[in-house]
Amino acid sequence: MISIQALTFHYQRPIFENFDLQIETGETWAILGPSGCGKSTLLALLAGLKLPTGGAIQINGQRLTRPRPQTGLILQDYGLLPWATVHENVELGLKLRSFYGADGIHAPRSVIAVKETDSWLERLGLTSLAHHYPAQLSGGQRQRTAIARTLVLQPDLLLMDEPFSSLDAPTRASLQTLTLELAAEQGLTLILVTHAIEEAALLGSKILLLNEPPNRTASILPNPGAALPGHRESPAYQALCRILREKMDKDRVTATF
Ligand code: ADP
Ligand code: MG
Repeated sequence: MISIQALTFHYQRPIFENFDLQIETGETWAILGPSGCGKSTLLALLAGLKLPTGGAIQINGQRLTRPRPQTGLILQDYGLLPWATVHENVELGLKLRSFYGADGIHAPRSVIAVKETDSWLERLGLTSLAHHYPAQLSGGQRQRTAIARTLVLQPDLLLMDEPFSSLDAPTRASLQTLTLELAAEQGLTLILVTHAIEEAALLGSKILLLNEPPNRTASILPNPGAALPGHRESPAYQALCRILREKMDKDRVTATF
């Protein structure tokens, strides 16, 4: 469980103030809001890459003071190493872990087999591309490599920051479906940042709507249909998109005047 307690975070101006939020293990959340509202900041705080100015974030009862090895982070630009093949990119995390250990400090006694890499390449449909370099891949293939590289480390929490926004529509749709499948299959807690209303309504069983900073209270919309097949075509999905559109427009108008 993730517990955000009275979180305050400032740059030059406050982004979060006394902000509370609970995320249960295994839930799928979308964080939605206009550009500049603090989505990436919240993700960086959840990743332990930024520390709160005030308040605390606890994950499974432990206060977050630095990045956890069990948290996977996937960004929009994939973060692949250009000089390494698909196979080497996916294997990299395991190699680093065998050097530093699962706790990030102590190297483990046994090194995880390369078998893990191969099975994740297969799960993500990358086997035939294993010896290609990132420059030889499409955007969708790069993002699948980035996902394989993260999941090979068996995270319990997966954070994604606008991971599909630079992909074409069919590739985006297939990766959205794959991400939901993988999260369910691996029992992951998934938190995905997006500025796209449709993506939030499609993926998030719960949607956290952020506004113009400072964010003080969590506006949460439940979306239980997100996990069900056919959600994209359902009236509930259409209705939720409409509500989100209205809420985002309203917030923008009140923020502007
Ligand atoms: P989002 O991801 O929702 O677009 P961010 O979390 O990146 O928004 O940023 C929230 C606000 O904080 C924005 O106004 C942005 O300009 C500001 N900001 C982001 N990073 C920094 C930084 N390193 N230093 C100062 N201000 C920042
Ligand atoms: Mg952002």
